Amino acid sequence: MSGMTPSAASLYDRVQRVIPAIEWPVFSDDIDAILRLKRERNAVILAHNYQTPEIFHCVADIVGDSLALARKAMEVEADVIVLAGVHFMAETAKLLNPSKTVLIPDMGAGCSLADSITSEDIRLLRQRYPGVPVVTYVNTSAAVKAESDICCTSGNAKAVVESLGVPRVLMLPDEYLAQNIAAQTDVEIIAWKGHCEVHERFTPQDIREMRAAHPGVTVLAHPECPPEVVAEADFAGSTAAMSDYVGREKPARVVLVTECSMSDNVAVDHPDVEFIRPCNLCPHMKLITLGNIRSALERNEHAVTIDPAVAVRARLAVERMLAV
Ligand code: SF4
Repeated sequence: MSGMTPSAASLYDRVQRVIPAIEWPVFSDDIDAILRLKRERNAVILAHNYQTPEIFHCVADIVGDSLALARKAMEVEADVIVLAGVHFMAETAKLLNPSKTVLIPDMGAGCSLADSITSEDIRLLRQRYPGVPVVTYVNTSAAVKAESDICCTSGNAKAVVESLGVPRVLMLPDEYLAQNIAAQTDVEIIAWKGHCEVHERFTPQDIREMRAAHPGVTVLAHPECPPEVVAEADFAGSTAAMSDYVGREKPARVVLVTECSMSDNVAVDHPDVEFIRPCNLCPHMKLITLGNIRSALERNEHAVTIDPAVAVRARLAVERMLAV
C-alpha cells in the first residue's frame, strides 16, 4: 500500500472475492477516513493474520503472524503504531519500539493463553524446577515475559527450545504447543495448562469429517491445536507457515484449521485454490473493527504503557528470541 495514495474505491478490487459488494458501503467511509488519519498522524497499522479482510487488506501497512509483527514493529519509523490484534501484541510492539505511541483500538482484546498464567505462577515454577530455563510464548503479558528467560512464537518454538542447549525446559503457557514441539525435539518439555480457546475446540473427528465431505482436501493445522488434531493434519505450522505452504504447494483444496479470517486473507492472493472453511472465531481478535481503528487514530486511544522496570526485563526475553 505504499506509493500512490489509495482510496476505498480503488481497494475493493483486491477484496471482492471475500467481501460481498453489498457489504462494501459499510466499510468504505471508515477506510477513507483511516487512510487520511494515517497520513495526518504519521501512523502505521500492524494487523495480525486473524483480522478481517477489510482491515488486513485495506488499511494495514504491515501484516503477519505475531513473530513477523514483532520484528516489523521494531523497525517502524512512524510516530504512531496502531496494533490491529490483541493486547499482548501491542505490548510487544511497545517493548520493542518504546519511543513510539502504540495504540490498541479496544483494551478488551485479550487472549485466553495470556490470561492463563501470571508472573507469580512463573516464580513458583522456578522454585519447583530450579535451574530449568523458562521459555514463554509471546502470547503472554509483559509481566510474564519479564519473569522468563526467552520468548518464542509458534513459528520458532522448536528453534528457541533447542538454542538453549539444555536437556529440559519449561514451555509456557500453551500446553498443546508444548506437546506438539515435544514431539519434534529431544529436549524434555514441561508444559503449563493454558489453551487457546479458538484452537482447543477442534477435534480429530472434525478433521475426519472434513476429509470425508471434501475428498482430496489438504489439511493444515495450527500447533495450538491438540496433538491428536495435528496428527490428523497433512501439515502443522504457524499462520505464516500455512500461508507459505498454500503459496508453495498450491493445493487444489485446502482447509486451514485455525481462526476464521485467516482463510479469507490467504484466499485473496490464491484465486485458484478452493478454501474449505470450517473455522473458529477468536472473540478477542474480532473486537478490532474499522470503526474503533478510526477512533483510536482520532482520539489517540488506547495508548499502551508498560512499567519501565518490567519493560527492561520483558524486552530482554523478546530480544533473545529475535536473536535466535
Ligand atoms: S486466537 Fe487464541 S491465541 Fe490467538 S488471540 Fe485468540 S485466544 Fe489468543
